[in-house]
Amino acid sequence: MSKAPVNKMIPFSSVDGPGNRFALFLQGCNFDCLYCHNPETINMCTGCLRCVSQCEYGALKVINRKIVYDKNNCTQCGKCVINCNRNSDPRVRFYSELEIIEEIKKVKDFISGVTVSGGECTLHIEFLTELGKKVRELGLTFYIDTNGSIPLWEQELMNIVDKVMLDIKSFDNNQHIKLTGVDNSVVLKNFKFLLQKNKIYEVRTVIVPDILDNKATVNKVSKILAGHENVRYKLIKYRQMGVRKEKLNSYTPSTRDMNELAEIAKKNGCMNIIIT
Ligand code: SF4
Ligand code: SF4
Repeated sequence: MSKAPVNKMIPFSSVDGPGNRFALFLQGCNFDCLYCHNPETINMCTGCLRCVSQCEYGALKVINRKIVYDKNNCTQCGKCVINCNRNSDPRVRFYSELEIIEEIKKVKDFISGVTVSGGECTLHIEFLTELGKKVRELGLTFYIDTNGSIPLWEQELMNIVDKVMLDIKSFDNNQHIKLTGVDNSVVLKNFKFLLQKNKIYEVRTVIVPDILDNKATVNKVSKILAGHENVRYKLIKYRQMGVRKEKLNSYTPSTRDMNELAEIAKKNGCMNIIIT
């Protein structure tokens, strides 16, 4: 049985795939996106204990030199994260697939499926695969939300997962490296593989004015998506909230700019465009 670090579980989410879904967020990411809205999910906690004294509510204690987190005392004030040099989160806990399944069973009758996100969930591929099998046994659909950075065409997971939500942050490799710190060749290979296997629910691109060549990415992605009516192309406005402002100097694009990009995608034959 494998375990994975869990940052957060949301029993009912309407924004992580179709219908009402149980959403699971795993800790740890191999990208360091300049615009990351959840930077506390990137690094693993090293257990240095520095943040414990910052918690005024008694939610963090040290027992046998390890942090013990009491969620009943936590006010979600975020002070522990702010005071961590690694911008990590001491509230993360390791769960086995069976422990997660027990949580899912509590709400099973009210949801249509489970979505696993992150961080980057595919970094915990063994856990993800075993969890997916058990979710399917419950009669629920199993979706993942991924940055597409590991070769999915090699994974057993692809026989289990119903659909994938895939980020394509930049089609241009140099810009992708500038934005994420990582090459995009595997991402683009995954994109074509998943499309061919009819495994994509949604492709997402965050539109960042002045920093990325948004038109080029939307143009290329939408040409590939042309004719795939069941795949959504979501164009997301960059927003400053939650972003590490020292890393990125941009602004929220106007509705007009977003509509222009949507128009490019539409002209290329992309049928299912969402602006958010
Ligand atoms: S969250 Fe950060 S400060 Fe707290 S124990 Fe982990 S690494 Fe140390
Ligand atoms: S968010 Fe962190 S610092 Fe704030 S109450 Fe919870 S554990 Fe304590």
